[in-house]
Amino acid sequence: MKKIEHIGIAVKNLKVSNDLYEKLLGVAPYKEEEVLSEGVKTSFFKNGPNKIELLESTTADGPIAKFLEKKGEGIHHIAFEVDDILAELARLKQEGFIILNETPKKGADNKWVAFVHPKSTNGVLIELCQEVAIVP
Ligand code: ZN
Repeated sequence: MKKIEHIGIAVKNLKVSNDLYEKLLGVAPYKEEEVLSEGVKTSFFKNGPNKIELLESTTADGPIAKFLEKKGEGIHHIAFEVDDILAELARLKQEGFIILNETPKKGADNKWVAFVHPKSTNGVLIELCQEVAIVP
């Protein structure tokens, strides 16, 4: 794991939260993107070397909708940048972590992503991400 790449925050309304985080961070989001496969609309803010990802659900029963229902708005996941997502997944699996995506999928912001179940990480959903340019 190289560094925290971004922190994902589940929000009810992306537009309202974009305005809020723009005020908080002093910058506008540098991109907005819908990920159809995940049923989310996302926006990304730069903050020094890190990023904040806001996630709004576009479906009534997607992962973000379920999260909001159970826990309300708040931190949804922490994403770590890796060089070799397949090797990292294999390592974590061997260490006993519960891997949610054995095969990385195309996530937002031009990344291959895979998730580690919060049950195996003290309640925090962990995302691994690797730049798409480096094909796994
Ligand atoms: Zn993320």
